[in-house]
This record gives sequence, structure tokens and C-alpha cells, in this order.
Amino acid sequence: MGNIFIITAPSGSGKTTIIHSVKKDISTIGYCISHTTRKPRKGEAHGIHYYFIDEDGFQKMIENREFLEWAFVYGKYYGTSFESMEKALSSGEDLLMDLDIRGARAVKTRYPDSSLIFILPPSIQALEERLKKRTKGGEKNIELRITKAMEEIQQCVDYDYIIINDNLDKAVEEVKAVIVSSRAYKTKRLSLVKQLFHL
Ligand code: ADP
Ligand code: 5GP
Repeated sequence: MGNIFIITAPSGSGKTTIIHSVKKDISTIGYCISHTTRKPRKGEAHGIHYYFIDEDGFQKMIENREFLEWAFVYGKYYGTSFESMEKALSSGEDLLMDLDIRGARAVKTRYPDSSLIFILPPSIQALEERLKKRTKGGEKNIELRITKAMEEIQQCVDYDYIIINDNLDKAVEEVKAVIVSSRAYKTKRLSLVKQLFHL
């Protein structure tokens, strides 16, 4: 099984932008696609960024116990289905996940070797500006997102890596560095070494 990297960030920190670049630069990384009842933003596509479904569909999936974890965030449902997770893991590749704090905890409990990465904006002012910039795309609840961001930022101490997205290229490089260095970790490399040197 590959490594699991769970990325959490207050809304508007630049997580989606960073994940997009990381996936482009590291083609051998899978992505676990969540289900959500929120509407797609500009540039988002069904089956790539999320599975966009309605509330009835989401409720049915909850009743059928199809979710490994799910959460109600900013008035919308988000969840990781067992099917998405298994599909992503079955390739054997490393896997990126974009989850809120509770979702990250749930996946970490099930997969304790997962690496937790927290992305922060450089300041609350910068976060507000980024959220407003995105408002043009129909974003709402900016005040709520700022209040929630302050609560979430306090939880970053529970994460393995903390990345400050002041400069996008630097933040992308840091996330990539975490992924690449994990691949050289001895427990991941030992089976290859045994194979290479007939140990
Ligand atoms: P999230 O997925 O965390 O909610 P997004 O990736 O949608 O955030 O980014 C929110 C906004 O901030 C977008 O308009 C994005 O282009 C912008 N952004 C992301 N990173 C930076 C950065 N380092 N500097 C300035 N703007 C950024
Ligand atoms: P957004 O609407 O900005 O894409 O996401 C809002 C929040 O929902 C983010 O904090 C994101 O990490 C979280 N999120 C996205 N997918 C999931 C999921 O499957 N499970 C959980 N618990 N949170 C998710």
C-alpha cells in the first residue's frame, strides 16, 4: 500500500490550488475523490474534484453506510466513501486526500501511518482577501469561514507538517518534498532493497 497524505486547511488558504499543482507535478499520486452536496465552483468538474450529488443521494449513502467518514461543513455535506478510498488505494500508489479536521482524524485512526499536512494562509488578512477574490465565483459565508479558520488553526499542532502558503510555488515545493521524502523512508524501501540484493 502507498503512503496516505491528508491535507487540511482553513477554507481559502489555497489548498485546492496547491493540490492541483502537486497532482500535475507528481503524476504517480492518486487522489481520493469525496462526495459533496455543494455546487461546483468555476473550473470544478464532477468525478475529478468531487462527486457532486444532491442531499437525498447523500442521505441514502449515509443510510447504506457507504462512508468511511462524513461531515457537515458550511451547510453542505462532504464525505469519503469506502468505494473512493478503495479505488484510490487499489492502484498501490501514494494517495492525497483533502479533508477537514474531523475527517483527517477519522482516516488517521483507520490508517495510522497516514501523514497529516496542515496548510495555513500567511495571515488572517490574506485569508480574507483570498476568500473575497473567490467570492466573484459565488462564494458565500466569508465571516463564518474566518471564524472557523481561527478555530481550525489552533488544531495544527496535531499535524505532522505545517506549510504556510505565503508563496504558492514554495508551498507546492514543500508539499512535494514531504511526499518525495516519504517514499525514501526505510520501511517503504526495505522490500525493494531485499529484492535488489536478494536479502
Ligand atoms: P481552498 O481550497 O483552501 O479553499 P483555493 O485553492 O480555492 O483555497 O484558493 C483560494 C484563493 O486564493 C484562490 O483564488 C487562489 O487562486 C488564491 N491563492 C492560493 N494560493 C495563493 C497564494 N500563495 N497567494 C495568493 N493567492 C493565492
Ligand atoms: P470546499 O468546499 O472548500 O471544497 O471544502 C470545504 C471543507 O470540506 C474543506 O475543509 C475540505 O477539506 C472539507 N472536505 C472536503 N472533502 C471532505 C470529505 O470527504 N470529508 C471531510 N470530512 N471533509 C471534507
